[in-house]
Parts: sequence; C-alpha cells; structure tokens
Amino acid sequence: MPKVLTVKHMARCIACYSCMLACARAVYGDYSPSHSAVQIRTRGGLQSKLAADVCIGCRDAPCAAACQAGALLPRPGGGVRFVRNKCSGCGACVEACVVRAIRLDTDGRAIVCIQCGTCTRFCPHDVLVMEESAADA
Ligand code: SF4
Ligand code: SF4
Repeated sequence: MPKVLTVKHMARCIACYSCMLACARAVYGDYSPSHSAVQIRTRGGLQSKLAADVCIGCRDAPCAAACQAGALLPRPGGGVRFVRNKCSGCGACVEACVVRAIRLDTDGRAIVCIQCGTCTRFCPHDVLVMEESAADA
C-alpha cells in the first residue's frame, strides 16, 4: 500500500527548513519556503516548541471532495494528486482540509501535499518519514 507523510520525531526538528525548501524547489519550482506544502512553525509561548503543519493523507480526502474543478483527486493509500492547471483558486479545498494544510500561492493556486516524500529525503533528522497509514497497519 502507498505510504503517507508522517511526523515521526518532532522533537528532533531544529527548524533548518530543509523540508520546506525541498518541497518548494522540487514540487513547486520556487525557492521560497512559503511555497512549500510542509510548514514548520513555532507554537509560540515561552518554550517556543516547533510544530509541523503537514497533510495527514486522509482516505476519502475532504479536500478532493470539495474541489469542483477536478484539480484534486484521491490518491490510493491516502491524500491527493494535484492537477495544477485545473485549479481555479476558489479556495474550497483550503476550507475543507481537516488540518488546514492547504494554502493558496501568489497565483491563487493551491499549495497542497502530493505525498511524494521529497521532504523526507531532505530532512537530516528523520523528523518526517513516509509510512503506511495507521488504517493499513
Ligand atoms: S483552490 Fe483549486 S484545488 Fe482547491 S478546491 Fe479550488 S479549484 Fe480545487
Ligand atoms: S490536504 Fe487536508 S483534507 Fe486533503 S488529504 Fe491532506 S489532510 Fe486530508
């Protein structure tokens, strides 16, 4: 069964942003970490712990169900495939995502995880990994 992106060892994250840069560069052809489907952020507060906002690879993905343009298609094993040239930028997927992991880029198109695993290959501390979803375990 295809694997899905999983936050495995958040405590190891040093906020190097390698995952974000890898996603932005390899998937979206951009150098800005804002064009990454993975977002590493501080939770705020005095302890300033880090958090990763990532697609959790839903089965029967609500974002795909919400997309009337056919730009988001359910992916076997969880998550979605993205057909960028069909995206109209309506933002319905942004509202539908259960973990708020979709944003719109400056062209008004969705930035959404396609479960390619590129970010996991560039994370030096195995914070992010590809694993079979819990539903398959
Ligand atoms: S923003 Fe694009 S991908 Fe999202 S629902 Fe609208 S058309 Fe579909
Ligand atoms: S983008 Fe959001 S709604 Fe869509 S599969 Fe990922 S977590 Fe689920």
